[in-house]
Amino acid sequence: MSNLLEGKTALVLGVANKWSLAYAIAQAFRREGASLILTYQGERLKKPVEDLATELGASRVFECDVTRDEDLARLSELGRLDAVVHSIAFANREDLDRPFVETSRAGFALALEVSAYSMVAVARAAAPLMSEGGAMITLTYLGSSRVLTNYNVMGVAKASLEAAVRYLASELGPRKIRVNAISAGPVKTASARGIKDFSKILSAVAERAPFRRNTDPAEVADAAVFLASDLGRGVTGDVMFVDAGFHIMGL
Ligand code: NAP
Repeated sequence: MSNLLEGKTALVLGVANKWSLAYAIAQAFRREGASLILTYQGERLKKPVEDLATELGASRVFECDVTRDEDLARLSELGRLDAVVHSIAFANREDLDRPFVETSRAGFALALEVSAYSMVAVARAAAPLMSEGGAMITLTYLGSSRVLTNYNVMGVAKASLEAAVRYLASELGPRKIRVNAISAGPVKTASARGIKDFSKILSAVAERAPFRRNTDPAEVADAAVFLASDLGRGVTGDVMFVDAGFHIMGL
């Protein structure tokens, strides 16, 4: 532990289980001395996330479904925050399983609401709590700018999320609040399992990425530590790739 986040309080949204990228980030934040607040979506995850919160020494855990305004309103009741990690995405499984051109109006709206608009709503609620400045971090994927088989409407949602990061960074910069995205390489999590043929993506990355392997969630977590800490003080509006270098590759 090097105490990079000593004295800082971080809100982490998106821990569902031990495989969640948000869990790896929460672990690294804890290691660096941050005080943690976690959220979960819905009654089903209450007990498992409360157990993880206890293990992580989180000071608070509460329900926050980002599609519900009353849940989002609870964010503004938290005390001072120094960092927010938004690690949330959702699309209907059928929209990740059929041609993109078949995406329904409702499926498109849902994916964009949960995966992109929620970052705007969370930033709006959290910014007033960052009275001394802070860092907001979200998780994105290469499918925002490249066509990756079956990523479909999630790619459109990630493109929107990355644009939102730039607009938020521009508006919140004068308040010393930095907003960045980490573009993680594919990692086998519950959400990733919803993408058809995900194991083929993992194999292709391991074969072609400069590191000839996949991404370790701990690498994503350490990048989040950098962005949340004072070491990242010069960086905002950015998309930082933590993907074993896969994004630079052409043929
Ligand atoms: P995960 O463990 O399934 O995390 C996704 C989280 O989003 C879950 O906690 C999920 O809760 C939550 N969520 C979904 N709908 C929500 C809602 N309406 N309100 C509040 N929370 C909601 O999967 P993950 O891979 O770690 O995903 C975290 C982030 O990383 C996502 O933005 C994802 O797109 C991004 N990412 C993942 C990869 C990868 O390969 N795994 C790569 C790049 C980027 P429930 O479980 O209750 O639905």
